[in-house]
Order: sequence, then C-alpha cells, then structure tokens
Amino acid sequence: MTFFRPNIRKICDKWIDIHNPATNEVIGRVPQATKAEMDAAVTSCKRAFPAWADTSVLSRQQVLLRYQQLIKENLKEIAKLITLEQGKTLADAEGDVFRGLQVVEHACSVTSLMLGETMPSITKDMDLYSYRLPLGVCAGIAPFNFPAMIPLWMFPMAMVCGNTFLMKPSERVPGASMLLAKLLQDSGAPDGTLNIIHGQHEAVNFICDHPDIKAISFVGSNQAGEYIFERGSRHGKRVQANMGAKNHGVVMPDANKENTLNQLVGAAFGAAGQRCMALSTAILVGEAKKWLPELVERAKNLRVNAGDQPGADLGPLITPQAKERVCNLIDSGTKEGASILLDGRKIKVKGYENGNFVGPTIISNVKPTMTCYKEEIFGPVLVVLETDTLDEAIKIVNSNPYGNGTAIFTTNGATARKYSHLVDVGQVGVNVPIPVPLPMFSFTGSRSSFRGDTNFYGKQGIQFYTQIKTITSQWKEEDATLSSPAVVMPT
Ligand code: NAD
Repeated sequence: MTFFRPNIRKICDKWIDIHNPATNEVIGRVPQATKAEMDAAVTSCKRAFPAWADTSVLSRQQVLLRYQQLIKENLKEIAKLITLEQGKTLADAEGDVFRGLQVVEHACSVTSLMLGETMPSITKDMDLYSYRLPLGVCAGIAPFNFPAMIPLWMFPMAMVCGNTFLMKPSERVPGASMLLAKLLQDSGAPDGTLNIIHGQHEAVNFICDHPDIKAISFVGSNQAGEYIFERGSRHGKRVQANMGAKNHGVVMPDANKENTLNQLVGAAFGAAGQRCMALSTAILVGEAKKWLPELVERAKNLRVNAGDQPGADLGPLITPQAKERVCNLIDSGTKEGASILLDGRKIKVKGYENGNFVGPTIISNVKPTMTCYKEEIFGPVLVVLETDTLDEAIKIVNSNPYGNGTAIFTTNGATARKYSHLVDVGQVGVNVPIPVPLPMFSFTGSRSSFRGDTNFYGKQGIQFYTQIKTITSQWKEEDATLSSPAVVMPT
C-alpha cells in the first residue's frame, strides 16, 4: 500500500492547510498530489490488481475481518482526529466511525454477497452459470462531513470484491482516511491495493479522465457531483454520486409530542446540521403548529462548544466561508418575509472566539419560494413551514427537487403508510428522524440527491463494484462430434 505523506516533499510543491474549525488554527497540511504522483498511484493500483483479484475470496474476507477488529480497537483515536479536523463532537465522531465500521462488517459477508447464479441443463449436457468479477481500479471522492464513514462506504466494499482502490478524501479532513488506510495495511492488505491522493479539482479531473480507472464513487455537493457524473460517464466509467439534500420532517398533530420534538431538534442541529440526512425542514400539520414555541425552547437548551469539550451538543461549521454562507441564508429569510424565532448568528463560544460557530437557528413562516427553503443550508438551521393537511405537506415534499430523506411523526399507522407510499423520497422514516439504512440494505437517496443507477453499500454496492461473466458450457459423456456446421440459431 502506498501513502503519499509529507516525506515526498521533493516532488510535491503545493500544500493544503488543514484547520481546526473550533479555532481556525492550522493544525497540519497535506501535499497536493502532482500529476506524476497521481499517475504513480494509479499504476500502483493497476499493478496490484491481478494478484488481489486472484487472491481467494476467503483470504480477502480475512483481511476485512482483521480490519473490523482494528477499527474497533482504534475507534476513539479515529474519532479524535475527526473532531480535530472536522469539528463535530467526540460522541458524534465515534458514531461516524461506527457507521462506517458497520459497512466493513457487512463487507465481510462477501462470500455470500458475491455468489453468482447457475442454471443446470439448459439443454442436453449444457449448463449456464455466472460469476461476479471485480472491475479493476476503482476510485472514491469523499466530502468533509463524514471523514470516516463515507470512505468506509467505498474502499472496503470495492476491495473485498477484488478491486484495487484510489481514494481521494476531502482535502479538509484527510486524517481519518490516512489512519484508516494504515489500519487496512496492518490488516494485511497488500501494497498497492489502496492508494490515497490529496487535492481538489485537479485530482478530481484526473480521476474522471484516467483510462485505467473503471468506476467512481462520489459523495458530496450537487455542484461537484453533477460535474463528476457527467465527466466520468463521458470517459466510459461507472459513476455513483450521492449528493445534496433538503430533508423534511412532517409533524402530525397526533404524534407523540415529547418524542417528536426531541427527535426533530436532535436531527436538525446534531453535527451542526452538516449531515446530508439532517432534518433541516419541519412541516407542522394542523394543530401541531402550536408546538413551535416548545421546539424553540428545546433548541435553545443545546450547548454549542468545541467538539472535544465535555457536554457539547454541536460544534462549529467547517470553514469561515461555510459560516458566512449559512448566515447569509438566514439573512435572506428575514429579507424575504420569514421570521427568525431563534437566531444563532451572533453566538460567542468562550475560549473559541475565532471558531466557525453558528448556534441553533429556527426560521418560521417559511414559504417554498424563499431562498432559505430552496437552498441546502448545511448548518444548524431549521426552516419551518405549516400546512393544514397531510396532502399539502406531501405536495411540498414532492415538489422539492431533492429526494434524500424524510420522516413522518405520527401515531396513526394509516397516516404513516399513506405518507411512505406517496412521498417521492428515497429514504423514509416513520417516527425515525434520520432513516439511514443499515448496510445490509443500501443508501437509497433519489431524484436530485443521486445520480447513477446503483447505490452505495448493501447488495447494490456489490453490484456497483463487480461485473458479471456468464459461462455456457457443454460436456457430453459420449462422443457427439458435430458432423456438419450448425448454422441455425441454437434454440
Ligand atoms: P463538496 O462537493 O464540496 O466536496 C466533495 C468532494 O468533491 C471533495 O473531495 C472535494 O475535493 C471535491 N470537490 C469540491 N468541489 C469540487 C468541484 N467544483 N469540482 C470537482 N471536485 C470538487 O462537498 P462537501 O462540502 O465536502 O460536502 C457537503 C455536501 O455533501 C452536502 O451537499 C451534503 O448534502 C453532501 N453529502 C451527501 C451525502 C449523501 O449520501 N447524499 C452524504 C454526505 C454529504
């Protein structure tokens, strides 16, 4: 396995600073990979591929089994790195690693997941069977918000199938990927099977264009995702792209109020709203509109602090630019006629005055035409809409271009069923605020939240990282040599 670490100083002349979002201090830097280094990384993956693809599936499984153990043993260490570079609270960072670990555990089921199909005796003495085979060199491009979980959606699934992998973590949070790669090496993955490059646009273009890269897994914004999907597809690659979101929580008046308000607040403001499955939009239906003041009270009680401080509920945003963008979107709400019921723009966190903090913010009287509704805010901001009926709520959700996740809060089974069936969103929670499927299923965001046709992890993940070869084979006991050419289509 090859790592591009600072000891390649002679070749690399550009560096990317890494900041602690709670202080904005520079805490490290990564070398921006040069073209020569990126070429070398792909060559290394390509060279390692034949032997790795030929390694028995049981041996690949063993590597992954050791890997899951090492991740468990180092979970707190990885989480600390995430908090330092990304800002989320330590408890949340542990959840980030844990959800990735579950995908590694799922990848260990490769021996059943990769099974092909067989059909004996399709005609006399003839059998048909299929194999699932790896593609070759695959690549991953990850966002900043889940520094462990999202890379772990990618390379373990790809590699257990026999592919080798080129990973490009977010240049803002490379530490977790580097440590995860080291642990994979310690688990016995051969040199060259995983390479990591750092960078942004140039690295992304390189991945999209390189003829030896067969498939790209992307997670991030729509701006980057649409571009990568188009450019990678144009170069004949498989591309799966998980992108942005605007997730609605529909609150029915018959819902368990205590539970619902707590779930909404947790899902809107946890991780400072920097989750693609954050419930960033509430639709209060009918009498549930009266719960708004209580929602605000609960949000007020959340503690904003550096992620490594005890008791912190949410940490800072990733960069000063992200903070400015979120504040501008809150401003737009005021300008366009919404009401700010809770305003986190001016929050000061003692001891962390230079951090990118925004406190929980609730904007009410929001209409679907407003900018703060249309844009993905990706901050600790809950926008609240109101309707009189469930049908109106469904219409709003289905008119929104994104289809990542949604939740309904109700105690009525028929209401829950109606919502789940009519809503055009890929991941639906019934009294579950962040319905991210476990890895035996797949991550199934839809509409503008996804491009491609095969989702991340689960059976679909295996499909994405494999191709099928079918073999039609005839073995006759007696000599049945054809006496003349068979020119008619076999039936
Ligand atoms: P981002 O798109 O800015 O960055 C993602 C990756 O793309 C990074 O590795 C980055 O280097 C690269 N990149 C960024 N801009 C690029 C450009 N213009 N051209 C080429 N490459 C570029 O995303 P982010 O800010 O790191 O992450 C937040 C976004 O990711 C949000 O929109 C969030 O909803 C989304 N997200 C989606 C999911 C999901 O599963 N649907 C999960 C997590 C995050």
